[in-house]
Formats: sequence, structure tokens, C-alpha cells
Amino acid sequence: MEQSKCLTVKREPFGKVLDGISIELFTLSNSNGITVKITNYGGIITSIITPDTTGRAGDIVLGFDSIEDYLKPHPYFGCIVGRYANRIAEGKFKVEGQEYSLAKNNGPNHLHGGIVGFDKVVWEVKEVTESDNEASLKLAYLSKDGEEGYPGNLSVTVSYSLTNDNQLIITYDASTDKTTPINLTNHSYFNLSAGQAKNCLDHVIKLNADKYVEVNDQYIPTGNLVDVASTPMDFTNPHPIGEFLDKVPGGYDHTYVIKKEGTKEKMAYVAWVHEPLTNRIMEVYSTQPGVQFYIGNFLDGTLIGKNDIVYNKHYGFCLETHHFPDSPNQPSFPSAWLHPGEKFNEITIYKFSTKSY
Ligand code: BGC
Repeated sequence: MEQSKCLTVKREPFGKVLDGISIELFTLSNSNGITVKITNYGGIITSIITPDTTGRAGDIVLGFDSIEDYLKPHPYFGCIVGRYANRIAEGKFKVEGQEYSLAKNNGPNHLHGGIVGFDKVVWEVKEVTESDNEASLKLAYLSKDGEEGYPGNLSVTVSYSLTNDNQLIITYDASTDKTTPINLTNHSYFNLSAGQAKNCLDHVIKLNADKYVEVNDQYIPTGNLVDVASTPMDFTNPHPIGEFLDKVPGGYDHTYVIKKEGTKEKMAYVAWVHEPLTNRIMEVYSTQPGVQFYIGNFLDGTLIGKNDIVYNKHYGFCLETHHFPDSPNQPSFPSAWLHPGEKFNEITIYKFSTKSY
């Protein structure tokens, strides 16, 4: 008879944030040696440990050991990003006859929810679940009307569930009392070699996308969706991230349009990634329409992370599943509006395995 496979959640203090509020660290563990650590400050995933093909465990996400490091400036390592992930041109949009001005924190534009986005707030711990099927943590946050310039009180929950088939399932739910744009994602940076490769450029990646969102020199969409075919943007066939990088000015930092098979199935396959030194594999699935493929172009060696690793340029890559950038100002893009009475719900799954020969 199969043994009962109980998944666990360990809960421990993780220090205090600047206003003296104590925060916690939650360790979700499954029976296959996978652990995921999450703090309720910014909903940050601080660590994901998975075994490689020989069974050796290693940490595959970028981040820090202590809360003090997370309170200093860093490029959104592991965080929940919101109210609107990615950029909104000039921090402005119009809805129901009213113009709104958001905080500008990326030159003239609004990025990742503004100056104090969802990555820099303390989330309420709503629920911790341990069962035979999952270990999970549910966080909640009320983003008040006017926060960073956004309209409406937005009530958000984000759940992280680790399963015994090695999936990390992130579920985002929200409701509002005024029409607001919403775009939620997780900003984990991965390096599946767990410290063995000095950057992510040899990782082999496949993206389920025929098109990407064209942007200008400020990373603001032009409105065009461009075919990847016969360009260095094409990852429809798996190949190393670095293979055509010299032909991509600035490096990959683009939203790919996820190909949806059929109309009924909202959840779609997004990406497959293989790391050749350790043979780790990560697959990504999501209900969201796009994925920001960002390869740490702005990492510059000034941040030193866990295990004294220096985060040089391209050390890690992100697959931020989300809506397209600047959707509030781009009527042809999938709608990112949430109206009172509606329920926002998006799910992203990261699935971990190793290559067997
Ligand atoms: C954006 C990058 C940005 C990075 C860190 C990514 O989501 O696409 O342009 O530099 O986040 O802020």
C-alpha cells in the first residue's frame, strides 16, 4: 500500500520591517525533497530547493538570507508584483471619463505598481494548509482607494501551493469597488544550476509563443504584436538563451503572447526550460495571456545574494506571467480592467523535474 504523503508547512519569525511589524517565513515541503520558502513581506519567494538529476539539492532562485537585505533596493527578487505589473505609459490612464495619475518610478513611466507596490507591503497571513495533497499559504492584502494613484479598494489574495507532483501553483484572486486596471505576477529570478553556472545563458528554453509585444526604447508597447518567426526572438524550438543574444539590443525583456490551444482551456502551456549542468527542468503553465521573458539585463554585480553569490548581468531569468504592459492605454490588448462585482482569478504553475535519459 502506498504510504501517506503528508506535505508540511513550517512557520518561523523572519524579523521586522521598518515600521516594527514582525514578519514570518513559511517553508512548504513535499515528499520529494522540494522546499519553497515564502515571507509575508511582499509575498516574496526567498528560496526554492529542488533535487538535480543525481538527487543533489540546490536553491534555484535568486534572493537573500535576511529581511534586512530585502528592505534595501533590489530588482523585485521573488516578489508579488501589483497593482499593475510592468509599465503604464506616463503613469496615466482614463477610465469611465476620469483620468488617473499614478506614481512614476521608471523615468516618466509607472513600473510594477509604483513606489510602494505589492512587493513592499506586509501581507496578512490568511490560511496555512497541510494535507496529503498540498502544503499551502494564502496571503491577503487590501490596496486602498488612491494607493499609488489607483482607483478603488482592491482586495487581493495570493495562494502558494506545493504539491507532491512537484508543482508550485500560484493563484491570484481579487475584487474591487471601483473599476481599476489589475495585473498581478510573481517576479522570481531562476538559475536552475543552483550556483554551478555563472549566468543563465546556457539554459535551453522553449516558449509557447509565435508573437511578442513590440516596445519602444522605454519598453512601452507600440501596440503591435510582432511575429517571432525568423528572428532572434523565436523560442518556439528549444535553444540556449544566449544563442542569439548579441542580436537583441539590451537583451530579452519582452512580453511574449502565449499561444492558447482551443477556446475552452484557459490554462495554457507557457515555457519549458532545461539547465544542462544539473539537468533540472522547469515547466510553466498559466491562465494569463502573456509572459515577460526577462534575463537580468540590469543585474550588474552590485548585489550579493544567498551563499555569497554575486548577481552579475544575466545571472537569472524571469518568466513573469501577466497581462500585456500598458493595457489600460492599448484598447486592442486583452482587457486588464476589473469592474465592481467581477472576480479576478489567474493561476500560474511552475513544475519542477529533471531530465532522465
Ligand atoms: C522588467 C524589467 C525590469 C525588471 C526589474 C522586469 O519585469 O521587464 O524591465 O528591469 O522587471 O525591475
